[in-house]
Amino acid sequence: MELFDEGLHSGVNLALNVEKILYREKTDLQDLMIFENSQFGRVMSLDGAVQTTEKDEFIYHEMFVHVPVFAHGNVRNALIIGGGDGGAARQLMKHDGIEVTLVDIDRTVIELSQKFMPSISGGAFEDPRLDIVIADGCQYVKNTAEKWDVIIVDSTDPHGPGEVLYTEEFYADCKACLSDGGIIVTQNGVPFVQETELRSSYDRLKSLFSDVSFYLAAIPSYVGGSMAFGWATNDTTLRKSPLLGLTNRYVEAGIDTDYYTPEVHQAAFSLPLHIQRMLTKD
Ligand code: SAM
Repeated sequence: MELFDEGLHSGVNLALNVEKILYREKTDLQDLMIFENSQFGRVMSLDGAVQTTEKDEFIYHEMFVHVPVFAHGNVRNALIIGGGDGGAARQLMKHDGIEVTLVDIDRTVIELSQKFMPSISGGAFEDPRLDIVIADGCQYVKNTAEKWDVIIVDSTDPHGPGEVLYTEEFYADCKACLSDGGIIVTQNGVPFVQETELRSSYDRLKSLFSDVSFYLAAIPSYVGGSMAFGWATNDTTLRKSPLLGLTNRYVEAGIDTDYYTPEVHQAAFSLPLHIQRMLTKD
C-alpha cells in the first residue's frame, strides 16, 4: 500500500505492512487511515503520509514539547496548532501549572486518536487544563488576542489543509501571539528529502525573528533520516541555554521521558554540515 503521495517527497516511499485496517475514511478535509503494523503498532496516516505511530511517537512529541518548554524555563501557557493525535498535549500536561489550547481543523483526527490510539494522548483530552478548538489554525492566530509562551505547530506537511501553516503570513500572526521571550517550534519534515521546505521555512521565519534555527531527531517512521523541528524566537539566549540550567529544570519538573534528556536537547541543535549548507546556500 502506498503511504506517501508524490507531493511529499517524490521518488521515496516508506513501505509498511498494513496488517489490519482499523479505520479508513475520506473526510471533507483529509483521507484518514488507522492500521496495524507489527513494528510500529497502530499507525495513523493522513492523505497517505504517516502522521504518528504508537511505537515511535514519543521521540517526536517529547522533542517537540520539552525542548521549547525547558529552554523557556517559565511556560505558563502553550498553543498547539494541529496536533489532533493528542501527543503534544500529553507531553505538555506533564508540566505543572500549564494551560494549553489545541487548535485542530479536523475533529475526526481527535476522535479517532482517542478511540484507536489512546496511549498517544494519554488522557490529555480529558484534562481540564486543555482547551480544544476546532478551527483552521491560520484563522485562529489571526483573530485571537491571547498571548502564549510557546506555540507548537504540529501540522501535516505543506500540502492540503496544512499548507497555510507554512506561510509567512501565518508565522507573522504567530509572532504577534507570542509573549515576550516566547518560542515557536514547527514540524519541518526530513531535510534530506524535503530540502526546499526546510529552506523556505527558514527564510520566512528569519524575516520575522532574531533567532531562527532547527533541531533534529530521528523518527523511525519518517523516511529519509533525521527530521527537523523549526525554532524561532526573539530571545537570542534561549537556544544556547546552559546544560546546568536545563538539567535543573528537568530534575525539578520530575517528568518521565524516554527520549528527551537535557544533553539530547543541547546536541539536537548541532546541525550536520550538509544541513547548515542547505540554510546558507544561495
Ligand atoms: N506528526 C505529524 C506529521 O507527521 O506531520 C503531524 C501531526 S498530525 C496530528 C497533524 C494535524 O494537523 C492533523 O490533526 C490535522 O488535522 C491538523 N491540521 C492540518 N491543517 C491544519 C490547519 N490548517 N489548522 C489546524 N490544524 C490543521
